[in-house]
This record gives sequence, structure tokens and C-alpha cells, in this order.
Amino acid sequence: MKRKPKDFLTAFLLVGGLLLFVGCGKVEKYSMTDIAMGTITNQTIYSKDGDLTLAVRNIMLELEQEELSWRIEGSEVAQINAAGSGVYTPVSDRLYEELEILIKLSEDSGGAFDITIRPVAALWNIDAWAAGKISVTEENQAAEGASTNKEQPDIIPTHEQITLTLTYTGYENLSLTDGSIMLPKDMALDLGAAGKGIACDRIAAYLREQDVYGAVVSVGGSVVTIGKKPGGTPWQIGIIDPRDTSSFIGILYLEGENFVSTSGDYERYVEVDGVRYHHILNPATGYPADSGVRSVTILCDSGILSDALSTACFVLGVEEGMALAESYGAQALFVDMEGNISMTDGMKQFFKEK
Ligand code: AMP
Ligand code: MG
Repeated sequence: MKRKPKDFLTAFLLVGGLLLFVGCGKVEKYSMTDIAMGTITNQTIYSKDGDLTLAVRNIMLELEQEELSWRIEGSEVAQINAAGSGVYTPVSDRLYEELEILIKLSEDSGGAFDITIRPVAALWNIDAWAAGKISVTEENQAAEGASTNKEQPDIIPTHEQITLTLTYTGYENLSLTDGSIMLPKDMALDLGAAGKGIACDRIAAYLREQDVYGAVVSVGGSVVTIGKKPGGTPWQIGIIDPRDTSSFIGILYLEGENFVSTSGDYERYVEVDGVRYHHILNPATGYPADSGVRSVTILCDSGILSDALSTACFVLGVEEGMALAESYGAQALFVDMEGNISMTDGMKQFFKEK
């Protein structure tokens, strides 16, 4: 049964406050679980500045509505996608900067990452495949049981359809110049692989300016931590077990500001005739990436990069993905098809296996 968005909100919109004393100031704990950017979001903010959760929620909604959503008419991405062939569409400074970062990652990943994947994603109909799995932090474990991962049979496109649709993709065909972007005919942008990380960047920028003692916010598979947790213990980010999504393979213990994103084959998928088709596509083949990994987690100092790199590294697999992450100064953790865990040296100090 399809749940109506309104019921969903009623079920998930929880706002709470709890008084704590840290140092000489009164720090209050505020939390909210909500739906935004097509996924479940969780906030825990320890603040001396009152309840900031609604402001943070608005940052996500505005980002989705005004900038990133290809679905919402009037967003920048929707306008770019709707512009006629060969038409240059002016882009806001922020989106322009983000597009530069993402196009560079497309080049650096040899095309494993590609923001023009939308026509192929639409052909597979991946948006009809259920259910954001959330990243679980110590603070939001209670909400974890609420996430869903419906399996829903779907129609698998034919090889011919995929081959044809691939001709409408290719980041190298974009023209980003002088504050504008142009897409060739029938191409379309899809920033779904980086949007939740971009949200984390925006949230961090906002919270840094407030009197916040510490905060942890998750937007689907992307998480940002800021400042300290009262009591002095580190932030704990659970890494979901890709084949038992109700449990973790281990925990990342983090201090201060961090961005963590996970891409996994369990987040959106259908199983047809025993074959799992998931939402991370290999732009070279048009099929779900088949690089031998089930999930990739990236830790770095940028939300957009943590999110985009997790997708890119998933497509590349362990060896090449590890090299790409390291070239960006990011840490990576891979879970392969046998459930083996491998990670960059720098990740080892933060990760404790369960
Ligand atoms: P994520 O869950 O962050 O790995 O992002 C997956 C989403 O990004 C998908 O739902 C698609 O919208 C889009 N996507 C899928 N494959 C790619 C790819 N190879 N490069 C860029 N975006 C992709
Ligand atoms: Mg991503």
C-alpha cells in the first residue's frame, strides 16, 4: 500500500527538547525526524540558540524546491532540463560551483560518475523502486525501524533500449561556461548522487553561524556532524550491514565537523528472477554497477564530495575507488559481495567493527 505523504509526515515529524548543562551555558537538545529530499532526515542539535530544527528543515526543502529537484517544476535543475536543445540557461553561483565540482569528479572518475545519467535512470524507473534507507546515528536509532525497503517487481528495459538511451548521456557533452549551462537535445541532469551531501554542506554552513554546541544531521545516506556531543563522547555513525539493514557492520567514531555518505545496493532496488537491480548505474553500460561491492562509505570534509565520491567509488569498485578517494584526500570503506570490509589506512582510526 502506498502511504500518503501527509500520513508519513504525521508519523515522522517529531520535535523534542531536552535541557542539558554544558560549561557555563544552558544547552538544549532538539531533535526532528522528517521527510525531505525524497528521504528520511534526522536532526539532533545541541543548541544555546533555541530550536533550530525547523530552520534546518527549511534549508533542505528550499534546496530541493529551488535548486536540485528534477521533479519540481521551477527548480533550477528542472528549468535546465526543460530548456530547448542548444539553449544556455543561467545558473545561480552556488549551483554553478557545484556543477564544476561534479563535472571535475566525472572526469577524475573516468566517467564512473555522471550527472547526465537521468535518461537511463528514468528508463529503469528507479524512482519507483521504494524507499530511502537512512543512515543511522546513535541519536536516531529509534527512527531506523520506521524506514522501509519495499521490493517491487518492475519491468527490466531491453538491451536495445539501454543502448539507445545511453546516447542521450555523457557529461562531456555539457557546456558549462560564463554562468550558464547548455545540454544537448534529450539530455537531462540528475544530481541525486550528490544532493543529500550538498544539503549537509548547507546545513553545516548555517549551523556554524549559530550558537550550536554540537549537531548531527542525516539526510538519507549522508550525515554531517558539527561541534561536540555533550559529555565529551565522540559522534557515532553506524555503517549499515548491506545484507541485514537492521544492523550495523561497525561504527565510525568521529569528533568535530565531518561529512559521511554511504552508497549501497540496498537503498533502492528491485529483485526480478533472483537478480538484484539497484539504483547506482554504470554510465559505461547503462546497467546497475557490477563492480563487486555492496556499499561504499566516504568520510571527508565536504558534503558534496562525500556523497558524489560514494557513488563514484561504488561504480569503480574497491581498487580504483580507493585510489580515487585518496586522490581527493577522502577516506573510504568498502563492503564487497562476500561481506569483506576494506578501507583506506586513514579510515582505520575511526572505524570499529561490530
Ligand atoms: P547515491 O545513493 O548517492 O549513490 O546516488 C544514487 C542516485 O544518483 C541514483 O538514484 C541516480 O539518481 C543517480 N545515479 C545513479 N548512478 C549514477 C552515476 N553513475 N553517476 C551519477 N549519478 C548516478
Ligand atoms: Mg552519492
